[in-house]
Amino acid sequence: MKRLVLLGASGSIGTQTVDVVLQHPDLFEIVALSVGKNIEKLKEILNDIHPKAVCVSDEHDAAALAEVYPEISFTCKEEGLSELASRDDYDVLVNALVGFVGFLPTLAAIRTNHDVALANKETLVVGGQLIYAALHQYGRKLYPIDSEHSAIFQCLQGSRRSDLKRLIITASGGSFRTKSREELKNVTVEQALAHPNWSMGAKITIDSADMMNKGFEVMEAHWLFDVDYDDIDVLMHRESVIHSMVEYRDHSVIAQLGAPDMRLPIQYALSAPDRFELHQDHPLDLAEIGTLHFEKPDLRRFPLLGLAYEAGRKGGNKPAVMNAANEAANLAFRNGEIPFLSIEDIVITSVYKCPFKEVKDVNDLIEANEWGNSYAHKMIEEIKK
Ligand code: MG
Repeated sequence: MKRLVLLGASGSIGTQTVDVVLQHPDLFEIVALSVGKNIEKLKEILNDIHPKAVCVSDEHDAAALAEVYPEISFTCKEEGLSELASRDDYDVLVNALVGFVGFLPTLAAIRTNHDVALANKETLVVGGQLIYAALHQYGRKLYPIDSEHSAIFQCLQGSRRSDLKRLIITASGGSFRTKSREELKNVTVEQALAHPNWSMGAKITIDSADMMNKGFEVMEAHWLFDVDYDDIDVLMHRESVIHSMVEYRDHSVIAQLGAPDMRLPIQYALSAPDRFELHQDHPLDLAEIGTLHFEKPDLRRFPLLGLAYEAGRKGGNKPAVMNAANEAANLAFRNGEIPFLSIEDIVITSVYKCPFKEVKDVNDLIEANEWGNSYAHKMIEEIKK
């Protein structure tokens, strides 16, 4: 029995994690979980799952819930997340939070001797070097939930690391892969949210449309697998059937394929190297799909992908500034405040304008995050005028 703390239970990855746990009640147990403001969803989850502790964003929600569920202890806000991650009665933290808010709970879990199943890629984008150091110091492991990284993790099983030549991360190209830059000027939020292959949360679907997400995934792969940026390639593959590949030094390429169903990477992050049954309504049927397509990514069409390589290589505060500016710009676009292409402008300008600084501790990261956030907001206000 693996005991879990699940952060971000009401989101897309969170609800699918609950589904995986309910498919295997003899193997997994959720001892604590968090949601943000979606109290209705929380109540649904509490019909099936009986945690000892729950964290919500709002203190009034926490107080009201404590009346209804006296057997559960309720905490709130960001401190509550790290509190759950630091508990001593569980084995693996499942971090399905969205954004920089996921960083401190990941660090808290590692520092209290827990492994982490990570869907919160921003944790590694902003503070990869601090997480990497903490994992080594405490002898803990990170298990990827991101589908590309789960694929790579699966392709690396049973092989020698010294034989690895490069990682090949596949990219669907998101909702606008067939649109020219000219056509991108007037796209709407609704169009951006209609991803052709994957059903995901709103923030990541927008990040996929401008390929910031793929840039983040390159950085995530760099820290997860300790591979140089020169040895991580992105390959456009519109069907999202091959979730990623690795090439070995004899040029043998190993790929992982599957239906676009996040429950597989979630479950494998919790079961590896074992595999358990997983019910799927539509498992992969290659004969039905027939043809798979591949092409090189065009970095002029998707400048944020190139920027992520640049920020990753540069390191220091640049990745955290990039992430913060993106969080602000992504949200402003979803709120209808700025056009789609302004996201790129804001993120690129923030990264270039920010004076370079080394990151030595969490405070440096928080400072970089605030710098990127406030610079992006200044630009957003200018655009709104
Ligand atoms: Mg992914």
